[in-house]
Amino acid sequence: MIDNSVLDHILGHNDKLPTLPGIALKILEAVQKERPDLKEIGEILATDPPLSAEVLRLINSSLYALPRKVTSVFHAVNMLGLNTVKNLALSFALIKQTRSTEDEQFDYPLFWKSSLTAAVSARLIAQEVAPKVSEDAFFIGLLHDMGMLTLARCMPDQYSLIVGETARDACPRQDAESQILGFDHMVVGQYLLGSWGLPPHFCLPVSCHHDPQKLETADAEALKMSRILHLATLYMELFLGDQQNPNLGLIDHFAGQYGFKARLDVDDVGTRILDQTRQIFPFFELTLKNEADYLEIVDRARAELIHVSSNFIDQLLEQQQQIQQLRRQATHDGLTQLMNYQFFHETLGREMARAKRSQMPLTVIMADIDRFKGVNDTHGHLAGDQALKTVAEHLKTSLRETDCIARYGGEEFAMILFNTQPEDALMVADRVRETLSDVPIQFGNQTFQITMSLGIATMYPDDALSREELIDLADKALYRAKSAGRNCCRIFHSAATGIAMAS
Ligand code: GH3
Ligand code: MG
Ligand code: MG
Repeated sequence: MIDNSVLDHILGHNDKLPTLPGIALKILEAVQKERPDLKEIGEILATDPPLSAEVLRLINSSLYALPRKVTSVFHAVNMLGLNTVKNLALSFALIKQTRSTEDEQFDYPLFWKSSLTAAVSARLIAQEVAPKVSEDAFFIGLLHDMGMLTLARCMPDQYSLIVGETARDACPRQDAESQILGFDHMVVGQYLLGSWGLPPHFCLPVSCHHDPQKLETADAEALKMSRILHLATLYMELFLGDQQNPNLGLIDHFAGQYGFKARLDVDDVGTRILDQTRQIFPFFELTLKNEADYLEIVDRARAELIHVSSNFIDQLLEQQQQIQQLRRQATHDGLTQLMNYQFFHETLGREMARAKRSQMPLTVIMADIDRFKGVNDTHGHLAGDQALKTVAEHLKTSLRETDCIARYGGEEFAMILFNTQPEDALMVADRVRETLSDVPIQFGNQTFQITMSLGIATMYPDDALSREELIDLADKALYRAKSAGRNCCRIFHSAATGIAMAS
């Protein structure tokens, strides 16, 4: 999994990274004290009367079914506990702050509708299976997709590609993210929440909410919350996704797998989610798209639940896995797990368009192993395969997480370095080349070393190069490197400047 230092590098200095509103920070600081002072929380909220009013309105709605009206924040804290009031205040503060319309590419109302549906769902599920943390579940549900909003803000160009890819291939958003960026909104969400100072029991469940089995922790509570969150996202997709066949059967299946079935009636929870979202949306100035649609979804999903057998669910899950596998096979090379030729071409086209739009240079490096035929002849074809895998690993660890690396052909590799000047690309390429010659390749009881030659070409945003031309220039530079004796790099500055600079 990608680590935080890489995300720090990519997102840390981005001024579009969502921040927590000041009042939310103060509330968080106050509740994180060893003995939170209820009075202090009340006072913080009192500094923002509209926010307090909204929290009180929601608390007094039938959602909380209180026996009598609550008229002050202090009173609310006494009746419902600090946690509930804190989470509601944070939710209002957050939605308000990030509802801006400046990023017109991102559908904020849909985002918050989805997130609130997940929040309501998580709270209702938790009320049945982990009542003590049901209010936390609401807040975590609300925040669980913040990584998506972060990516859309910080990397708008790549994110619109991802949205396009998701729609075109009808693939899960997180798969398209991993394919294009090398990481997904779940890890970005975890990173963001961590950077806000939220504790691990909030961040961890977010980090794998589509696949709780991947959670790398022994913390039973975090695992339970991830499972609650996973079911909540399935309900969210049921109501707001564009599924043709809404299916409670899938939720029922996972509820069984997570050991929730004895206490959770998935059909009943579905109906209650509908009821509660209908009540809660107006508090956040959101509307249900069409209530009749929602009712129909629940009815259809319920009908599916009656008809589906566990066999059918198993088949459905298996099918999803197969589709994922096929998608990977179609875009990646089986031996090295790098992008394949076809996918590299597609990616290069997209990246060149992005470079032009954002007025940034883009570098392509073509690399070819030296005298590879001799490696096969001396050590055998399988040892040659091992060398290819080793080179792939070496490239992956030497380049940035966001650079693209492909196996272009037999023993040829291609790389795309975004926003990289030729001089910097040359330094990178030469470092890769030099360090490769020290990497031992082990196969059986044989150990040997290899070298490679690299050709570099950079496109500036105003160059009218096609992707084939850009690859051709890098190829020409590679040819020069081979002619110069191999184990070296050559660079092709641009169409205008011609081949220059040796290393
Ligand atoms: P140069 O330095 O000029 O690049 O010499 P070379 O021997 O590397 O180049 P040449 O094109 O003559 O040979 C490439 C060799 O790579 C021949 C081919 O058998 C081998 N090769 C291509 N794909 C694979 C593969 O998947 N596995 C293995 N083991 N060898 C491969
Ligand atoms: Mg998600
Ligand atoms: Mg070769």
